[in-house]
Amino acid sequence: MDLGIAGKRALVCASSKGLGRGCAEALAEAGVDLVMNARGAEALEATAAEIRARHRVNVTTVAADITTEAGRAAVLAKGPFDILVTNAGGPPPGMWSDWGREDFLKALDANMLTPIALMQAVLPGMMAQGWGRVVNITSVSVKSPVAVLGLSNSARAGLTGFVAGTSRQVAGKGVTINNLLPGIHATDRAIALDSAVVKARGISMEQAIEERSATIPAGRYGTPAEFGAACAFLCSQHAGFIVGQNILLDGGATNATL
Ligand code: NAP
Repeated sequence: MDLGIAGKRALVCASSKGLGRGCAEALAEAGVDLVMNARGAEALEATAAEIRARHRVNVTTVAADITTEAGRAAVLAKGPFDILVTNAGGPPPGMWSDWGREDFLKALDANMLTPIALMQAVLPGMMAQGWGRVVNITSVSVKSPVAVLGLSNSARAGLTGFVAGTSRQVAGKGVTINNLLPGIHATDRAIALDSAVVKARGISMEQAIEERSATIPAGRYGTPAEFGAACAFLCSQHAGFIVGQNILLDGGATNATL
């Protein structure tokens, strides 16, 4: 399917690895020029070089922490953008009783206030040109809480509320905002969470992965490529009537009828 977005410009945050990279790859495959971001310059440059070589699109890199004001200013200086994919690392797991105000502020900054600030920066330009696409990478934890990820559950619920209202305010100008909710995907983040289980329960990594895979009807972890393809479709010309949705990519793990 021709996604109809060749020649558009996308900012894909936190995209040197994992799900962000999957989105960057899929958009590049659709002919979209990219501004890619991550904190570590080495992995970012390596990924950008691979994408340039494979898809023949323009790729600009900005090594910066997207959760800081300076980092956001550095990536936004590379605008304007037709497409925005927000993403950042997820908060660490833990116990509800251990988190203090600073832990919550850090999680809110990374996973709620950063995507909101980025949207506030790019939406006016998208609305003025009558076309834009925003996809926020959030989490399955929005639909179904992951108890050890209380910081994530909290911050992402706040972002989801913001998107629910704002997406309806901008849709009339040809701009869509939607959230993609990853369940378990095979990325460094998943390995980090599996490692925590390995440590806590004294089991092998293979056993941890096997046990988590057994909780997914699809019987396996998702891949960044599958995730990226869904993101690229939401950014396509065909997705203009999909507004303010929270789309689960979890292999059926969330046991719900709707
Ligand atoms: P990942 O494999 O750890 O990749 C994270 C990417 O983001 C890397 O490129 C990393 O590069 C970059 N990054 C992290 N923090 C950043 C920051 N502050 N500023 C700029 N770049 C940053 O993670 P992932 O699995 O793709 O997860 C992406 C998001 O989805 C996370 O919020 C995660 O919590 C959420 N999620 C993931 C899963 C899953 O199963 N994978 C499930 C539910 C939710 P640098 O480290 O060099 O900055």
